Amino acid sequence: MIFAANLKCNHTRSSFRIYADALNKAMGRKCDDIIVFPPSVAFLENKVNFVQGTQNFYPCIKGSFTGELGKEQLDEFGIGCVLIGHSERRVLGDDSLIKFKFDFAKEHDYKIVFCIGEDLKTKNSAKTLEFLEKQLQIIDLKYEKLIIAYEPIYSIGTGVSADFNDISKVLEFLATLTKVPLLYGGSVNETNIKDILTIKHCKGVLIGSAALKVENFIKLIKG
Ligand code: PEP
Repeated sequence: MIFAANLKCNHTRSSFRIYADALNKAMGRKCDDIIVFPPSVAFLENKVNFVQGTQNFYPCIKGSFTGELGKEQLDEFGIGCVLIGHSERRVLGDDSLIKFKFDFAKEHDYKIVFCIGEDLKTKNSAKTLEFLEKQLQIIDLKYEKLIIAYEPIYSIGTGVSADFNDISKVLEFLATLTKVPLLYGGSVNETNIKDILTIKHCKGVLIGSAALKVENFIKLIKG
């Protein structure tokens, strides 16, 4: 199972060092199925027992892109994994930027966690599947380092995960489109994780709030 933690705009370099030390210790050895996306100012240069990913980047090696992070900056920290399409970033750009990022990340061999998800209005108008299919139309669903995270917007950060039947139906549908690992994200926590991980085609979870404290993230990983 894949366990990914999106720390968003939480943690500093010093607090993330403590987070990473505890996670390293709990893992014992390198595990490619544990991914953590810290804020970029907290990237660690030293070896870690998990995959350190970036929450955002700009599709460039380096250059005149004020405030952005390019490949050269990621390389310094050995970052080989990128998060693309998170709903909190989709509001800041359009599909063409997302496609630009995906194509760049693929060209440079990054592991990509690609987020998709519908809002409540789309769900209530029974348009979820066609909406998700459209979100996936701009990327290569056969890319071997791709992971797709289904994150319904209405369940992110609310404390209430999506209905299990709804998640099942969506993952069943996504599995007809691609063979890459499928994750669920949206208010995953101690009380629902076991059931979520039993859903057919669910190969793991992307966790926000419940992974902010390292001891909670470790508990979720260890079951
Ligand atoms: C997320 O932001 O990707 C997420 C899943 O957050 P939360 O777990 O807090 O819903």
